[in-house]
Amino acid sequence: MKRILITGAAGFLGSHLCDRFIAEGYFVIGMDNLITGDLKNIEHLFKEKNFEFYHHDVTKFVHVPGKIDYILHFASPASPIDYLKIPIQTLKVGSLGTHNLLGLARVKKARILIASTSEVYGDPLVHPQTEEYYGNVNTIGPRGVYDEAKRFQESITMAYHTFHGVETRIVRIFNTYGPRMRLNDGRVIPAFIGQALRGEDLTIFGDGSQTRSFCYVTDQVEGIFRLLHSDYVYPVNIGNPDEITIKDFADEIIKLTGTNQKVVYHPLPINDPLQRQPDTTKAKEILGWEAKVSREEGMKLTYDYFKSLSSEELLKEEH
Ligand code: NAD
Ligand code: UDP
Repeated sequence: MKRILITGAAGFLGSHLCDRFIAEGYFVIGMDNLITGDLKNIEHLFKEKNFEFYHHDVTKFVHVPGKIDYILHFASPASPIDYLKIPIQTLKVGSLGTHNLLGLARVKKARILIASTSEVYGDPLVHPQTEEYYGNVNTIGPRGVYDEAKRFQESITMAYHTFHGVETRIVRIFNTYGPRMRLNDGRVIPAFIGQALRGEDLTIFGDGSQTRSFCYVTDQVEGIFRLLHSDYVYPVNIGNPDEITIKDFADEIIKLTGTNQKVVYHPLPINDPLQRQPDTTKAKEILGWEAKVSREEGMKLTYDYFKSLSSEELLKEEH
């Protein structure tokens, strides 16, 4: 039986990856320090004999007994609110955490895939973004702590590949959504749905002309699964190229939730990228992958999930 270590296992993407690899017949070792994750995302797995969980901070030395065939390094705060609240931990998990996991991959002779991000392109001057684009990141801006941690992560991963021969894979994830996102993590989808469910106005940052391209979680997991099992070592964009302005997206949410909410305008956060759309040619050519779930379908599934949360959950404030 293949054994896979998944860091960030109690988070949004990590928990869906645990589900997928359990379903594929792997022994899954989940690891998380719960800084932005929640055990309820994986509590259904505790009864599985092929699952075990380590409560551990990956910026500290990582020890896992026994063989490991694969590592997915997904631990990292991912929403702007989170990484602005815990900037040093964000830098550490991308740098020290990645270093520890690459070291583990080396001694275990495991293949490691790291979760990079479209944020390595910063506020992009090339549109749509191809993997060849070097990016436009403000190192000292508020988002720099995340963007630069991820850029360092890619560099050290390539260095371990080149200098130590570690089998590495790099996925550049574009905005992904679905059930198990934290309602109050500040990302636009849970923010808008939460506001609609609470009867509040939808907060658009800036004039709403900035764009994003949203990928449903099952598509993202499929792309990651294929990349892990491919022999391609350079970064690959995984995302849904269906691009929309935030203003139009707010209108879609109002329609979806059938509420009479208005939109209110707040200042655009510093360095908030004005446009973002993945060029997924590489994913198509190398992995035979493309996004299949439309925004309409994915948003309905996501809305159903958030609607099923208790009113206590809905009103919970972040601290
Ligand atoms: P998330 O916050 O839901 O999950 C991250 C998990 O990592 C949490 O459970 C958190 O507790 C854990 N974690 C953080 N620091 C840790 C540490 N030092 N040690 C152990 N565990 C730690 O976020 P997510 O959306 O699931 O993102 C997962 C990964 O995917 C991140 O690396 C993120 O940068 C990347 N990513 C996500 C998106 C997206 O749209 N969801 C986009 C680009 C990249
Ligand atoms: N956004 C918004 N209102 C909100 C939350 C976010 O208008 O309540 C905007 C945000 O400024 C950005 C886009 O929505 O332009 C996506 O934000 P998110 O935090 O989801 O992801 P990221 O900026 O990291 O792509």
